[in-house]
Amino acid sequence: MSKNNKKNNKKTESDDFKKLTKKELLHRAKKFSEQYCVGDDKDFTLKDKPTSYFGNEDKALIQKTLKMGIKALAAMQDILYAQDKWSVLIIFQAMDAAGKDGAIKHVMSGINPQGCQVSSFKGPSSEELDHDYLWRCQKHLPERGRIGIFNRSYYEEVLVVRVHEQILRGQKIPEKLITKDIWENRFEDIRNFERYLTRNGTIVIKFFLNVSKEEQKRRFIERVDNPDKNWKFSAADAKERGYWDDYMHAYEELIKNTSTKKSPWYVIPADNKAYARIAIASAIIHALDEMDLEYPKVSAEKISELNEVKKALLEEKE
Ligand code: ATP
Ligand code: MG
Repeated sequence: MSKNNKKNNKKTESDDFKKLTKKELLHRAKKFSEQYCVGDDKDFTLKDKPTSYFGNEDKALIQKTLKMGIKALAAMQDILYAQDKWSVLIIFQAMDAAGKDGAIKHVMSGINPQGCQVSSFKGPSSEELDHDYLWRCQKHLPERGRIGIFNRSYYEEVLVVRVHEQILRGQKIPEKLITKDIWENRFEDIRNFERYLTRNGTIVIKFFLNVSKEEQKRRFIERVDNPDKNWKFSAADAKERGYWDDYMHAYEELIKNTSTKKSPWYVIPADNKAYARIAIASAIIHALDEMDLEYPKVSAEKISELNEVKKALLEEKE
């Protein structure tokens, strides 16, 4: 293709974007995110799910799409906040270096900070261990009108705790309650908890950033080589990598058992960060679109009151 033709092609793509109506954008977000949505697929397996995206869109187009998604998301959040009825809980789970932090930072970059809160869950404190495992997460659930983001969550209770069963033994749970059914029981409790939230107006969306073992290795090495990234890396991360297969098994089990039509898991190919962020933004846009968001209706009486105030303001002398 000649340079000129290439230039013309780019122009057409960007013009297409400008012309995209809101309805079309929502339709595209739905179509695009659907391919990564597990829904209530009881036969779900992780090995069929891609970690990479092999499309040949150029970087500029990918960035433009992401920018548009972020803008759309911000506009929808504005209505969510004004309406003050629904709330959204977005959960991120992944292996180390899969890009959770970056995805949260970029996808939410257009959002009004007043309407959003991020909570990170690390190993529980002794106070937290004195309670059931949902307790610490419940304290951080989003208020009505807000988006709450969990960077890790109660799902660690069927992940790291399942991979390292000695953590379970240290949880002060009565011995008698630790049976072979404990993981199934936890899946059931989590399903019920999320159904309860949904029935009360909190929509729950869950993302597993599916990074490949090779890409994790590349990112770990980069974290060692780049002094600005050293803080992100520890020997413990490398040690957890040794349990990769156990983690994949735990992820597969939890996704299969806790993905539902109303609170689905999205398995996002995470080897390409920009692409992963577009997929995440699309899924959130789609979820918000399903919620009948609308600005609160103002009564005729209130409108005439507002017009009176406006008139008085315009008539002010100075
Ligand atoms: P980063 O991507 O920057 O490394 P991170 O989410 O991995 O962020 P870390 O402080 O490195 O943050 O790790 C938190 C650790 O806490 C993870 O290894 C996670 O498995 C662990 N963790 C979270 N919840 C629990 C839990 N309930 N019990 C035990 N460990 C937990
Ligand atoms: Mg970590």
